[in-house]
Amino acid sequence: MPVTASAFAAERLLFTPATPDNDAIPAIFAFPNEYTVGITSLGFQVVWATLAMRRDVDVSRLFTDTREQLPRNPELLGFSVSWELDYVNILNLLESLEIPTRAAARSDEHPLVFGGGPVLTANPEPFADFFDVILLGDGENLLGNFIDAYKEVRSANRKVKLRRLAQVPGIYVPSLYHIEYDETGFIKSIQPADAEIPSQVEKQTYRGNTLSASSVVTEKAAWENIYMVEVVRSCPEMCRFCLASYLTLPFRTASLEASLIPAIERGLAVTNRLGLLGASVTQHPEFEALLDYLSKPQYDDVRLSIASVRTNTVTVKLAEILAKRDTRSLTIAVESGSERVRQIINKKLNNDEIVQAAINAKAGGLSALKLYGMVGIPGEEAEDLDQTVAMMRSLKKAAPGLRLTLGCSTFVPKAHTPFQWFGVNPQAEKRLKFLEKELRRNGIDFRPESYNWSVMQALISRGDRRLSHLLELTRHYGDSLGSYRRAFKELRGQLPELDYYVHTNWELEQVLPWSHLQGPLPVTTLQKHLAAATSNFS
Ligand code: SF4
Repeated sequence: MPVTASAFAAERLLFTPATPDNDAIPAIFAFPNEYTVGITSLGFQVVWATLAMRRDVDVSRLFTDTREQLPRNPELLGFSVSWELDYVNILNLLESLEIPTRAAARSDEHPLVFGGGPVLTANPEPFADFFDVILLGDGENLLGNFIDAYKEVRSANRKVKLRRLAQVPGIYVPSLYHIEYDETGFIKSIQPADAEIPSQVEKQTYRGNTLSASSVVTEKAAWENIYMVEVVRSCPEMCRFCLASYLTLPFRTASLEASLIPAIERGLAVTNRLGLLGASVTQHPEFEALLDYLSKPQYDDVRLSIASVRTNTVTVKLAEILAKRDTRSLTIAVESGSERVRQIINKKLNNDEIVQAAINAKAGGLSALKLYGMVGIPGEEAEDLDQTVAMMRSLKKAAPGLRLTLGCSTFVPKAHTPFQWFGVNPQAEKRLKFLEKELRRNGIDFRPESYNWSVMQALISRGDRRLSHLLELTRHYGDSLGSYRRAFKELRGQLPELDYYVHTNWELEQVLPWSHLQGPLPVTTLQKHLAAATSNFS
């Protein structure tokens, strides 16, 4: 059902918006999807609240299906981007506001279009031509620095504004970098426009011990009335493919007394649905104490969801609390049933621990366990899949009656991880089918993710600026792999083939599309981790 402006009336705010000054900067902050999706994004909520609490910014929200009253002449238009294919909605929204979709076509009368969020921080290049400014990294300090620098040059022309903003650490102005390609299509060099523009843009890392929490609770959210608290940021495990870990290092934890408990109390005063967020929530050093706190009788009616649980932290106590707090099922990521493959990816987990997790989940009263795996991991052989089947069978035996599901995706290379140089294994599709057949035969529910979707994800995660033309073309054809192939054909000669982006293993010496954007670890460290992984190849 389409949401109307009344969606805003159902919101319960957990902050006090400022009354904007008369000369406040008119701004729009957009989520390029529907309201229910956008308002469930903790990142969107927090950035919006940060802007709304400033007297010098007058911000209105924009979604694809609803909007607040928008300023007639916005100076800033921001997008929070969480999903790659939402680029279509970004272009649609720009058009609906009569703003040119390409940054190069905008003039002084148009707002500066900025973007942030996980998709753009990982690899902004396929979308670089659509943005004037991209914020790389944690928003806590970056957003304020952005607004403050903007205010210094507010009355200047566009060129001066962009040059000033490019001086702020973590602010990337794509138009100020020139990419040169060699005759075979590889990137030859990435150079800043001149000596005043930094040659490397460093992703920003926030180091405080107070992490994010919901700024709004609403029944219209995709998870109705959920109040979200970020318990940890990043993950110390460093599985070699994992963006959630490598892109956001170092691992940071919210202080229990100073941050988590006060935040939870604020949230539970307005709702009884609590989500604990983070890439590895159960690795918070005081997680046990947090569980004890949530076990208090006053919270008996609280519905608790936990984003991610490490397999060897599934204790009977955790399962009991979840079962009591209205969670019936738990998801654990095991990646593969093969110990060798887990060594390749640095997943410090053995089969006995996986079996124990299933036993504990059942003993604690949960009725289902969902495992999450991957095929096509670099170095994986066909025999490794037999071991995944064997692992699932042994779980079924060890915890009879526990409903087992294996969700399975295809390995997709991600920028700033040690596996960024690997392509998608074309055998992966066959391997998904093999698992499907074998597991269904054993009465185990198997939920594969679309292989074609993984191919598109890989295209975007390793894409460069030349893809912007392709994205514009496919936008009208629809987001199917067929559309991408058709667009590649039309653009033949202007950019490399799909295989180059998706399936080819790249050379270590190659200039990467994001070589000028500095992640948390230097490339030499990523290469060392890669070497540690490949030493386990057979
Ligand atoms: S344990 Fe999970 S979140 Fe942590 S690095 Fe591994 S895959 Fe990523």
